[in-house]
Amino acid sequence: MITFEQVSKFYSHNGVAVTALDHIDLKIQDHEIFGVIGESGSGKSTLLRMINTLELPSQGKIKIAGTDLMQLNDTQKRKSRKKIGMIFQQFNLLYNQTVNENIALPLRLNKAYDQQKVREVLEFVRLSDKGNHYPRQLSGGEKQRVGIARALITKPEMLLCDEPTSALDGQNAYDILELLRRINQTFGTTMVIVSHELNLIKQLCNRTAILEKGKVVETLEIQKGQQQP
Ligand code: ADP
Ligand code: ADP
Repeated sequence: MITFEQVSKFYSHNGVAVTALDHIDLKIQDHEIFGVIGESGSGKSTLLRMINTLELPSQGKIKIAGTDLMQLNDTQKRKSRKKIGMIFQQFNLLYNQTVNENIALPLRLNKAYDQQKVREVLEFVRLSDKGNHYPRQLSGGEKQRVGIARALITKPEMLLCDEPTSALDGQNAYDILELLRRINQTFGTTMVIVSHELNLIKQLCNRTAILEKGKVVETLEIQKGQQQP
């Protein structure tokens, strides 16, 4: 479980204090698909970066499985990040590397390259025939499936998705939504999905926090998206 207890985040911009998050309380359960919706500037990315320990709270506490993220040293932070996969709006692929090479990257960084693992995850995202292609040869939806495969290959307990379908059109967006749902159902992966698209959130998430100017103004329960593995 991830808990936010009265979390605030302040940035300084040209000497002026900006409140990105304002006394947030949240509980995200293991295995659930949790949505965060809000307009641009409402604090969504800040919230994701904090779960990933890329940012620390200015006030309040964030705990993952009971551990206060403020208490972690750099080695422990890196360890915590290893259990988390990230999915980006613009896919963040390396364009001079093949699909296989992109997907293998997290393994190589851990000096644990394993061709069989690359094959399996490619099959899971249904791109087995595209392993030797370069990203520019793929559609937007396929690029995002590569991004998702790269996040999955280390078997993360949690996926943080930042506007995962915003760069995609209708059918491609829907396919990605279905893939995220299948990941949650197959592996029980906890997901936090940030979006400004109510439709995506409604179809996918069990619960959703609505952010406005750094405050959670409401938390919605959405029953039909119920996904327990
Ligand atoms: P969203 O993801 O919902 O667009 P962000 O979390 O990116 O919102 O930003 C929330 C607020 O914090 C905005 O006002 C933004 O300008 C500000 N902000 C975010 N990151 C920084 C930063 N590194 N330095 C200064 N201000 C920031
Ligand atoms: P399937 O048999 O349904 O195709 P696999 O068990 O072969 O599924 O897994 C497909 C890929 O999903 C694996 O290669 C692995 O990298 C990835 N994966 C992500 N999270 C997990 C997890 N928690 N447990 C097992 N595999 C996972």
